Amino acid sequence: MSDIVIATRNAGKVKEINAILRGMNATVYSLRDFGDTPEIVEDGKTFEENASKKARIISQCTNKLTIADDSGLEVDFLGGRPGVRSSRFAGEDGDYLKNNKLLLRLMDGVPNYKRGARFVCVISIAQKGKILEVVRGTCTGRIALKMRGKTGFGYDPLFIDPKTNKTFAELGPRAKNRISHRYRALKKARKALKRFLDN
Ligand code: IMP
Repeated sequence: MSDIVIATRNAGKVKEINAILRGMNATVYSLRDFGDTPEIVEDGKTFEENASKKARIISQCTNKLTIADDSGLEVDFLGGRPGVRSSRFAGEDGDYLKNNKLLLRLMDGVPNYKRGARFVCVISIAQKGKILEVVRGTCTGRIALKMRGKTGFGYDPLFIDPKTNKTFAELGPRAKNRISHRYRALKKARKALKRFLDN
């Protein structure tokens, strides 16, 4: 049996990642199982840089196979913003409501056909400070004219799934997690992890 560390303290992420890694021949830990890992500043220009920085540092601290993610929203009309700054778009306090309101303000008057956007999730896998694999999952949609729905987090109330015309906050967690950027990246990560666990 091998060990995998998920480089996050976020309970929601741990749960979601655990569900997808279930059935692998590995014991899955998160940073909640390790007391004194360093705070890592996400100062990269890309999701890849941030995910890999976290994976590299945590794999060195824990001495275990480590997966780390970084995710966010890219809006076409805003040239890919908020991107890596998604959680801090409207300020360092990371307030979801403020972020959504700022996005709506910047998109005021923009017609539907120009409201395209995508969620991106990048997962980096590292061991002993060395990056073994980087995978990316994306999910395409468009920005709603107003916030709709009650579930989820972040930009979910403004992100419309084109197949159902519902926002991710209206879809609910089960339906969202079957199509989300994180799910898609995690499925690729699972495949890669299998290779590294076998070796
Ligand atoms: P991080 O990957 O934890 O750094 O998250 C970055 C930010 O991107 C979050 O705080 C959200 O604002 C946004 N984000 C990432 N994934 C999602 C999602 O599935 N739904 C809504 N917002 C998301």
